[in-house]
Amino acid sequence: MEAGGPRECLVVVAPCFNEEEGLTHFVEAVSKALDETGIDYRIVLVDDGSADGTPKIMRELATQYPRVRPVFLSRNFGQQIAISAGLDAAKGADAVVVMDADMQHTPEALLALIEEWRRGGEVIMAVRRDVASVSLFKGFTSKLFYRVFNVFSDTKIQPGASDFFLLSANAHRAFLQLPERSRLVRGLLHWIGFDRRYVEYDMPPRLAGESKYSTMRMVGLALDGLISFSSRPIHVATRLGVVTAFAGMVYLAYVFGRALFVGDLAVGWGSIMATLLVLGGLQLTFIGLVGEYIARIYQEAKSRPLYVLRCEPDALGFEKPESNAKDSE
Ligand code: UDP
Ligand code: MG
Repeated sequence: MEAGGPRECLVVVAPCFNEEEGLTHFVEAVSKALDETGIDYRIVLVDDGSADGTPKIMRELATQYPRVRPVFLSRNFGQQIAISAGLDAAKGADAVVVMDADMQHTPEALLALIEEWRRGGEVIMAVRRDVASVSLFKGFTSKLFYRVFNVFSDTKIQPGASDFFLLSANAHRAFLQLPERSRLVRGLLHWIGFDRRYVEYDMPPRLAGESKYSTMRMVGLALDGLISFSSRPIHVATRLGVVTAFAGMVYLAYVFGRALFVGDLAVGWGSIMATLLVLGGLQLTFIGLVGEYIARIYQEAKSRPLYVLRCEPDALGFEKPESNAKDSE
């Protein structure tokens, strides 16, 4: 730490949903790691409508650790929104890091992110190196998701990336300007651009408690991500519809020709049923797909606030670099 120079302030944002068992350990571990770097920092804990003792523990931690700032959402809004609430609260920071509160995102990797930031990185994503600690199913579905996402979307996401990243002040400011409700934060990070870098880390299993993501919730997040980043599924649907209709017309011409010139038109219940089912299925799928987009337009059009706070959070209160520099002169 250089005396007299402007002191940078880093904000760590952690979304917390029913994390009573591991939260204290998380704050201890992160504080310890950051204290050693000498950087000025705050830890913003966002309670995402927890039903357990998380809010109480957050309040206790805030009195015990002056650098901890709690933010309380009025109900469970989901991790992506909780992260956004935390990033809003961190306005004005020189850098902000988002990480899970369950110790799967390690303090060592946090330090590596900071290192990379010091080297000039603006959007630095932590990418998990091995998948040994995630279940076979989760590893497979995660890979499948990134593959499908990257085929359909113009915004590409690095496989193994999660909501563990650092944003420079500029990238943070850019992120705060994004207004949309359906948000896959890791996708938006690619959209904003900037000098993007990756830091690899080994992800340990969860310290305590259980994963908050059921399979259905993962599917929901994946679908949301896909549809909010790409309109390509709609184009694919239209093209497939055109091709099917064209094939149908060719077949119809063939059937008529056969009836007129050969006259051996077979009575085919099976083929009619099969065609009916395939076409009916395709139609329903595509109507559903269009519906997914319309539903999202509807959500956006309502323009409700992204989240509701239980109470106004304390201002972060870190000194701005300029005032700090003046003070120390
Ligand atoms: N989380 C949240 N709101 C939710 C679900 C999860 O804030 O509705 C938080 C959770 O407390 C954790 C992080 O998001 O800090 C990641 O969740 P989890 O560890 O359950 O996901 P996994 O690591 O299993 O993908
Ligand atoms: Mg986890």
